[in-house]
Amino acid sequence: MSECIFCKIINGEFNTEFVYEDEYAVVFKDINPKADTHLLVVPRKHVESLNELDDEVLLGKLMMTVKKAAKAAGLKSYRTVINTGKEAGQEVFHLHIHILAGSIKL
Ligand code: 5GP
Ligand code: ZN
Repeated sequence: MSECIFCKIINGEFNTEFVYEDEYAVVFKDINPKADTHLLVVPRKHVESLNELDDEVLLGKLMMTVKKAAKAAGLKSYRTVINTGKEAGQEVFHLHIHILAGSIKL
């Protein structure tokens, strides 16, 4: 069993609501939101960070998932953030893309 918190969420261990999902990724609300809307786009496949990702197709799919999840959430204007590495503020070492909209405190 994986120790990774996002893998556990993907596996449904915490009954986390997915606001959007597709073949490649799940999207759920950040537990500690830094904006009026703060979503996380998380690939189903465990990849530690952008530095460990070498799958160009998956990277493209993830960005398309960002767009689709934002649209599904009714967002026209939003910021995307990927923290890569501890010094840059990465806390969860399973690649994810933040979607932030509204009043952003980041
Ligand atoms: P990072 O700093 O790694 O880029 O972002 C990790 C994000 O995951 C943080 O914004 C944090 O609030 C969020 N987070 C950490 N643990 C959980 C959790 O168990 N559930 C949810 N929904 N978000 C989490
Ligand atoms: Zn993981």
